[in-house]
Amino acid sequence: MIKVKRAIFIEGWIGLLKLKLYLHLNLYIDGYFMKTIVSLAFFLVAVYFVEAQKLITPKEFLGYELGDRFTRHHRVVDYFRHVAEVMPNVELRQYGETYEHRPLIYAIVTSPENFQNIEQIRVDNLKRTGLLEGAPTGQKKAIVWLSYNVHGNEASSLEASMLTLHDLANTANTKTQSWLKNTIVILDPCINPDGRDRYANFYNQYFNDPVNSDRDAKEHHEPWPGGRSNHYLFDLNRDWAWGTQKETQQRLKIYNEWLPHVHVDFHEQSYNSPYYFAPAAEPYHEVISPWQREFQTMIGKNNAKHFDEEGWLYFTKEFFDLYYPSYGDTYPTYNGAVGMTYEQGGGGAGGLSIMTREGDPLTLKDRLTHHYTSGLSTIEITSQHADRVVEEFEKYFKQNLTNPASPYKTYVIKADNNRDKMDQLTKWMDIHSIKYGHATAGKTMRGFDYRNQTVTNFNLTTDDLVVNVYQPKSRFITTVFEPQSKLADSVTYDITAWNLIYSYNLNAFATEERINVSRKYQLSVQDFKATINKPYAYIFKYQSIRDVAFAAGLMKHGIKVRAANKSFSLSGENFESGSLIVTRRNNESVGDFDTTVQSLAKKMNRKIFVSSTGFVSKGKDVGAEDVKYLKPPKIAMLFGEETFSLSAGEIWHFFEQQLQYPITQIGTDYFEDIELGKYNVLIVPEGSYKILDEQALDRISSWVNKGGKLIVIGNALKSFAEKKNFGLKSYATETEKHDAEKKERQAKEKELLTRYEDAERKEISNVISGAIYKISVDTSHPLAFGVGNTYYSLKTNELRFGYLEEGWNVGVIRGTVKPVQGFAGRHINKKIENSLVFGVEEKGEGQIVYFVDNPLFRSFWESGKMVFSNAVFMVGQ
Ligand SMILES: [Zn+2]
Repeated sequence: MIKVKRAIFIEGWIGLLKLKLYLHLNLYIDGYFMKTIVSLAFFLVAVYFVEAQKLITPKEFLGYELGDRFTRHHRVVDYFRHVAEVMPNVELRQYGETYEHRPLIYAIVTSPENFQNIEQIRVDNLKRTGLLEGAPTGQKKAIVWLSYNVHGNEASSLEASMLTLHDLANTANTKTQSWLKNTIVILDPCINPDGRDRYANFYNQYFNDPVNSDRDAKEHHEPWPGGRSNHYLFDLNRDWAWGTQKETQQRLKIYNEWLPHVHVDFHEQSYNSPYYFAPAAEPYHEVISPWQREFQTMIGKNNAKHFDEEGWLYFTKEFFDLYYPSYGDTYPTYNGAVGMTYEQGGGGAGGLSIMTREGDPLTLKDRLTHHYTSGLSTIEITSQHADRVVEEFEKYFKQNLTNPASPYKTYVIKADNNRDKMDQLTKWMDIHSIKYGHATAGKTMRGFDYRNQTVTNFNLTTDDLVVNVYQPKSRFITTVFEPQSKLADSVTYDITAWNLIYSYNLNAFATEERINVSRKYQLSVQDFKATINKPYAYIFKYQSIRDVAFAAGLMKHGIKVRAANKSFSLSGENFESGSLIVTRRNNESVGDFDTTVQSLAKKMNRKIFVSSTGFVSKGKDVGAEDVKYLKPPKIAMLFGEETFSLSAGEIWHFFEQQLQYPITQIGTDYFEDIELGKYNVLIVPEGSYKILDEQALDRISSWVNKGGKLIVIGNALKSFAEKKNFGLKSYATETEKHDAEKKERQAKEKELLTRYEDAERKEISNVISGAIYKISVDTSHPLAFGVGNTYYSLKTNELRFGYLEEGWNVGVIRGTVKPVQGFAGRHINKKIENSLVFGVEEKGEGQIVYFVDNPLFRSFWESGKMVFSNAVFMVGQ
């Protein structure tokens, strides 16, 4: 920091000297006169530089009062830079950039004395967690982290961050300066700059002058996709644990370097709602400590005190629960902090002013003032209890190390799982500072078998991956891996199951026994060498999403790829169906064929198998009909109004960022004008479609008949069910339909007598808030290639479709099934019995692939990605 300031200072003086020299050399007319002028200029510029060393308010810096406009992100960054440059109690760091290349920054604010030891304070803190070895040597300092504007169109908090920074930095403010003596404040002014600028740009384009509080005005109606999400339309407040997005990945790194004691995530909700702050609503995950509950209430009471003084309305303990681990409140909570969500009324409809239900205009100024107040109040109460905050933080981690809260003490992930999945999982654990390794010795033990949902004996080997919970990240590990979590209350804000063991579909066990890790985890070494110089064919296994990316990479290089429809053996090696085969034949036109294939395999870490013959020892020969040429897909997707932006973004992100394969997004507003024949794959994301009228469906139908492949996801299936030329049925048979209707009627009658106060419970008996089901899979179909013998589907909707009559029911729910993990309303399991999960309708020369559950949901369901990839690359070849 000091270096930066000095550099600017020196630069300023060099500038002045140059100016002086220039004036002397070029403008020397009257010596005395010019000398006076030059001295005067010199003086004025010097005054300017001295002045610039002073802290100025956001108003002075921006030229308008906070709340009068929506400030674009770069101006906020400039203001943070200004404060950091002139104040000794602020340091600014850049921790990354967004997909749209906006900087991601955070400011550290604390007393200049603390800055002298800032690195020691950070290291001491990690020593208190056990993530670093040794005992802390310095004093106890509390760390409060304030995260603003994760949802771009909840736009007041970025404005509030400037005021908060100013008042914290202002040395004339005795209150804040006293807090900074024992507290480090970290401000991330904007978690989601791309979304925030999307909103600000929209608003600044349409605002009314004078201000218009009428909800009907254009300025209160954001166009699709709105500013909530990031560039790839992901909700960054669902991504903390999975870290699928660039912003999250970069933030997790610094977050885990600091591990704050208190974390606030600033949001906005409906403009009619009063302010919300902690304590949070039930359910709380059971690993949450008594102190985390207690201090939330203390913080809430302090906020209440300040809000009471101003007469502002607020509420606590409702709606925003602490369960799903991927939020800006739960992730910090499971990582030792008191993590909280604060919600101001406003959101995308808020504008500079909006008329509320009570006929009271709510202004941007009000909104930012409330966030500013709750932010400072949180720092105040933390500083008042700094010693206790640090001690309790230390206690939380001590308990993790010595007496972890979970009944399961060790997770064993068997060595025979797919190598890529193990690699991906361990890399994911590294991001979260989770420790793992190998056991000293193998033995027989008892544990919960995820594949069969039973407690059974299993063999632990020294090659298995072992994660025990006697470690700093104990509670977070538990929330992500535990076989079944206790749900204190089933009314939750989000999905109720997310287990990574099922997401990756791993052979794994949870045991109540503690197994110590004695050796660093070592992934088996991959060999890339092709043992034959000019092989007849290259063969690659097809078992993970990285294999898909490799196939896509070969196609992009113009290399013709085939896939074996049936399993086969060659030179003593077994190859499952889906295995990729690259023959010399048909690739004659590729210059440097061998080098290209081999170097791409090396780059993408793929094991190369070679064959000097097409004659296999078991199964179909390389040249057989059953080895299909994979025609490179030319992919289009519906995008824009009527598509659900999250689903559209997941598809977009999957192709560009995970497969590096091109996709063309076609706006729903001009879909009718495009030539469908240019593409051979059309993806319809989740959405609610008016454009898919009879005419559009006819057009799509005849394109499929000519060989097109249509992929439809989630509730977009409703646009095709029971429609002319499409085989998707809401119910399989008339009898089933009749039974289901009867059941539904009976349930409804019962529910009509629900007590008024139980309304919320009534709602949830008919929903799945996201639960994991083990489904039956036809593994011989290309849609299931590389998936293995079991498949777990993350169900996030109650849609129910019958088995397909013209085609293949590849993934189905047979009979009545309960979720293996998570909550499903009591009527749901009955309702979805004997139903389709995913399948392929054969139609003319083409196919339609239906996905009832969104396989790309938040991009963390790894086996879903595999099935989805199969739909794109394997089906119909
Ligand atoms: Zn929000």
